[in-house]
Amino acid sequence: MKTLIPIFADQLSRDLPPLSISEPEDSVILMMEVRGEATSVAHHRKKLVFLFSAMRHFADDLRSRGWTVDYVTLDDADNSQSFEGEMKRALDRHDIDQIRVCEPSEYDVLERVKTWEGDLGKPATIMPDSRFLATKEEFAEWADGRKQYRMEYFYRDMRRKTGLLMDGDDPEGGQWNFDKDNRKPAKADLFMPKPKRFDPDDITQDVIDMVTREFPNRFGDIDDFFYGVTRDDALYVLDYFVEHGLERFGDYQDAMLTDEPFLYHSLLSLYLNAGLLAPLEICRAVEAAYKDGKAPINATEGYIRQIIGWREYVRGIYWLRMPDYVSENALGATRTLPDFYWTGDTDMHCLSQSIGQTKEHAYAHHIQRLMITGNFALLIGADPKLVHEWYLAVYIDAFEWVELPNSLGMSQFADGGLLGSKPYASSGSYINRMSNYCGDCHYNVKDRTGPKACPFNSLYWHFIDRNKDTLKGNNRMSMIYRNLEKMDEGVRKDILETAEAFLDDLTPATSDYM
Ligand code: FAD
Ligand code: SF4
Repeated sequence: MKTLIPIFADQLSRDLPPLSISEPEDSVILMMEVRGEATSVAHHRKKLVFLFSAMRHFADDLRSRGWTVDYVTLDDADNSQSFEGEMKRALDRHDIDQIRVCEPSEYDVLERVKTWEGDLGKPATIMPDSRFLATKEEFAEWADGRKQYRMEYFYRDMRRKTGLLMDGDDPEGGQWNFDKDNRKPAKADLFMPKPKRFDPDDITQDVIDMVTREFPNRFGDIDDFFYGVTRDDALYVLDYFVEHGLERFGDYQDAMLTDEPFLYHSLLSLYLNAGLLAPLEICRAVEAAYKDGKAPINATEGYIRQIIGWREYVRGIYWLRMPDYVSENALGATRTLPDFYWTGDTDMHCLSQSIGQTKEHAYAHHIQRLMITGNFALLIGADPKLVHEWYLAVYIDAFEWVELPNSLGMSQFADGGLLGSKPYASSGSYINRMSNYCGDCHYNVKDRTGPKACPFNSLYWHFIDRNKDTLKGNNRMSMIYRNLEKMDEGVRKDILETAEAFLDDLTPATSDYM
């Protein structure tokens, strides 16, 4: 019985379910680089390099373990450039009896894969993705009957389930959450670890050349690619983070500093989401560092919460709410993103830093995504679907299941408050508190009106004012609405006019940077 096993770009795990139950001598693995996926949005060129190179290395890794891998490169003249076309061609090339596939991480791709058995005329088994801690069904059961899906409660269940940072039935250190000890603003003179760099080998260099050739106008710098592309590289980055970053991860998790794109962040999401690392092995390594006295509880708990809490939780929400989730727009926002989201060319220093490093590295850390680019898009009333497509395109770790709830839900409030009980909207003062960006800015963070006024300030009140019908009833917003009502009418008018003038001046993105 010959089995065809297609493996997608984010399924680069040796213990992928179809591999675990198949024998190398009875199987052909199919790996495909297809234009249909590479052009679904304007994926950053470094993201394409990372994924294609990691796929090619994974194919070699599997071959060295005795598997037969049929690999179709993007520039293969016969490539049909779609998964379905390549499945058909593979069935013509090999004498196949059945298909085994791990369920794709994206809703639309899963829907397509479900049609394969009928369309391709071979029995096809879709196996659940076992690389998450909570199954879709477990999450749906947890969510069933709840009025609010509070991540914190889901996270506690995941702690109990995994035993991570548990002291019998109680949380280690007597508390579930040590966030009150986290989130200090960073100082520029702190010693920050530089990210671990990997020189491109011949395989990666070939991919860099191909992506440069195939996508000459595509968004994202391609020079100086330093990310790892194998499981060994990913394990090295994990060790490096545990050794050099973890201790201060909690303290400076929300901090932002000019020309410091990475601070104490782990840069592990790309490897984790592509399947080169498993969530539990990361968390066990972090927990071991705590037990060895190398990291404090606030950093350890905060880090583990991101992985077994937030990451699993957003996946649960994605599968619970798709396919309608992608079209939600609770605030009725319709504006096109400004052109500087693709160029970084703006006088707003916080945005030019966050977008500039995104263009350079395909990376920004959480608070830059949430409180700089996300916050600004929210304040100007950008169409959440366009915002979602931007985030999906520009980050090296972006796959729809994790990106969509974060961008459309958490950052744009387009789901009406499923992920956050109030919008993550802020004026310049939050940015000033958590970063040193404002000191280097053309604008003055203290001003709300006038030519040098920080745009976040007037836009914040414009956002609050224009969404009052939707947000005023939200308990967590009542103080803000009281402040708006108390505001002097003339001042309020000036602020709103300042915001209107700023909005009128924005240049919408004219190209999709494909
Ligand atoms: P660290 O700061 O070191 O965090 C550790 C790990 O925790 C990450 O590697 C990640 O796996 C996990 N994590 C932390 N926060 C989240 C979260 N909110 N949701 C899911 N996992 C989380 N993360 C992605 O993996 N892919 C995305 O496409 C993505 N898009 C985002 C879009 C927006 C608007 C926002 C606000 C957040 C997004 N995130 C996304 C979450 C988070 O920003 C990234 O996981 C993180 O910045 C990755 O960098 P790191 O590995 O250095 O993370
Ligand atoms: Fe950003 Fe305003 Fe600060 Fe400038 S002053 S960096 S625009 S928050």
